[in-house]
Amino acid sequence: MTQPAPTAATRVAAVIGMPIRHSLSPEIHNAAFRALDLDWVYTAFPVAEGDVPAALAGVRALGIEGLSVTMPHKQATADAVDRLSDDARDLRAVNCVVRDGDDLVGHNTDGPGFLAGLRAAAGFDPAGQDCVVLGAGGAARAVVLALARAGAARVTVVNRTEARAADAAALAGAAGMVGRVDAVASAALVVNATSVGMGSEVGAVDGPAPFATDLLSEGQVVADLVVHPVDTPLLLRAAARGAVPVDGIGMLVHQAALAFTLWTGVDAPVDVMTEAAAARLR
Ligand code: NAP
Repeated sequence: MTQPAPTAATRVAAVIGMPIRHSLSPEIHNAAFRALDLDWVYTAFPVAEGDVPAALAGVRALGIEGLSVTMPHKQATADAVDRLSDDARDLRAVNCVVRDGDDLVGHNTDGPGFLAGLRAAAGFDPAGQDCVVLGAGGAARAVVLALARAGAARVTVVNRTEARAADAAALAGAAGMVGRVDAVASAALVVNATSVGMGSEVGAVDGPAPFATDLLSEGQVVADLVVHPVDTPLLLRAAARGAVPVDGIGMLVHQAALAFTLWTGVDAPVDVMTEAAAARLR
């Protein structure tokens, strides 16, 4: 289906980031608008560091209806919007801005998007489970908070820089702790939220992984947030050991689907959005 040309009535949504020209978000959201026959269009704006307040002033002045926010602007956006959702406040990071009257409200759909992707791909419910998160950057923090909110019994954070691990683990309250990589062996869920594995050759089973995969065993769920490539060396080796591999497309699509619904009030066509993402990534 081709998208009709925008008219004066077309509503506009966009993503800001730097760099941004590689972003998949326009393909994912425009596919969804087309599928539901919504008169919306989604584009991408490169915004330099320090220019987030000016970009948000532009969003207000131009009446842009929906804004996605990616690296490196998630924190600056949290500082510049009028209000924050609970997740965005706790993470001090915004990936999605919604207009509410004259206010711009900052949300963070990364963690709920991760959980929705995990449920869809592996039927995994974190309630009462022992979970390990590798990494302590923005993506890891969103995952740690979401796992704790979903009732995980334990969320162990393992990171190269231990001070950052403590900060991330604190997001999980009493369930959070800093751990070492051997915690992977007894976890029901292991999440790679580091960038290790990114840029590996497709199918390179011997490529870099964030821990020694002989720690894994049958039945564990192993999620990798890296999407370049989709089938990371970690996921290939996890599958070979009988673990359940969950790739990063689910989080990418579901965080976008949640943003789509916040802007439009309409259920997102997740299958269409997944197809659009996979067409670029696979
Ligand atoms: P970030 O804030 O820069 O954090 C990077 C994390 O990776 C840090 O914990 C860092 O450890 C760790 N790390 C980097 N290189 C490492 C190495 N060689 N050995 C061990 N640890 C290393 O990045 P982010 O935004 O959280 O993103 C992390 C990954 O998730 C990226 O690959 C990103 O593309 C992916 N991601 C995917 C989705 C999705 O929807 N699928 C969404 C967001 C992010 P230190 O603290 O020690 O530096």
